[in-house]
Amino acid sequence: MKNRSLLMIPGPVEFTPEVLSAMALPTTSHVAANFIEVFGDAIDRLRKIFFSPAGQPFVVAGSGTLAMDMAAANLVEPGDRALVVGTGYFSDRFAVILRRYGAVVTQVNAPAVGDAPSLETIERTLESASFTLMTLTHVDTSTGVRVDVRTLADLGKRHGALVVVDGVCSVAGEELRQDAWGIDLVLTASQKAMGVPPGLAIVVAGPRAMEKFRVRNHPVGSYYCDWKEWLPIMEAYEARKPAYFGTPPVNLVWALHISLGQILAEGMEARFLRHSKLSSAFKSATSALRLRQVPIRPELTATTLTACYYPEGIDAGFVSRMAEGGVIVAGGLHPEIRPRYFRVGHMGAVTEADILSTVGAIERTLIRCGSGIEPGEGLRAALAALSGG
Ligand code: PMP
Repeated sequence: MKNRSLLMIPGPVEFTPEVLSAMALPTTSHVAANFIEVFGDAIDRLRKIFFSPAGQPFVVAGSGTLAMDMAAANLVEPGDRALVVGTGYFSDRFAVILRRYGAVVTQVNAPAVGDAPSLETIERTLESASFTLMTLTHVDTSTGVRVDVRTLADLGKRHGALVVVDGVCSVAGEELRQDAWGIDLVLTASQKAMGVPPGLAIVVAGPRAMEKFRVRNHPVGSYYCDWKEWLPIMEAYEARKPAYFGTPPVNLVWALHISLGQILAEGMEARFLRHSKLSSAFKSATSALRLRQVPIRPELTATTLTACYYPEGIDAGFVSRMAEGGVIVAGGLHPEIRPRYFRVGHMGAVTEADILSTVGAIERTLIRCGSGIEPGEGLRAALAALSGG
């Protein structure tokens, strides 16, 4: 029997065998010529994946939260005004981090869980004061809500704010074009649509963000995050020269290089389309199973994950029953609705087969929990969507 479950949480996700093999290579020196070459090439590849030829990538050991910390530490000076567009748990986290570095934060929250603040409210807030910076959580993983980054970035830019996007649950899964959309900083982590085990914080800072950093009056309040330390390191790897500040996670960088190669070989447009098709198929299935999504309107739904309320009479025990059936999904995270919903990640190397297995497992679990659905209702909808029906 296959002693392995299917991991369908919104990160970490399932990784390709080639990426996993890179994790098992004998670790070399972080200044070995072959490692320097790989790191330098990974930096080049990141610019392509972020659609940011003008951007400066930073790749450091840490999780997505460290990438948020790095953005805030380097861009915020005490007293700077920051606007946080609030769509869930991770937007709230950004507000906390920004405050830690002395920002005066205004948070514009969604009127209800599963919604996003209106364009008008955000615009009115931007007009009410001079904001140094605005943060957007492209996909808030706690709610499955995706914001319209392109429109909001344009709005922020027109009001003179640096636009910072938390793309932890979106980069390489959702369409996101950093330079063309005028985004000043995009951050992500390795373990989601980037397709690499957890442990890398990835930030791409555009020219306006780097300029804001250069003209700072106060030293960066975090030693580990300071771009003064990391910029020469990234530049050295790119110039294929040895450099050291903090030891890079060698095997993770190899794995990143492999995954970035696979992403570019698939092609960004093809990758966005695959994510979107698989997400639609999965969402057709959950609708057929009469599971209500947390995002309250279709245009707010992410393609990298699906968040659904349990039906009447079913509780969070659903997640462990799913796991008994070999498919791991995630429980709720948003504090206001935590016990009432579950989340399924479908990003990175996810396939049609993974979608169908997950839909099948959800059906089976719902039936075992006493839900009155007919076997095959969800699978039929998913198959119809996947066959273009
Ligand atoms: N932002 C978003 C949108 C996330 O989904 C997550 C992780 N789920 C984070 C930030 C924090 O990332 P990490 O858990 O890797 O620190």
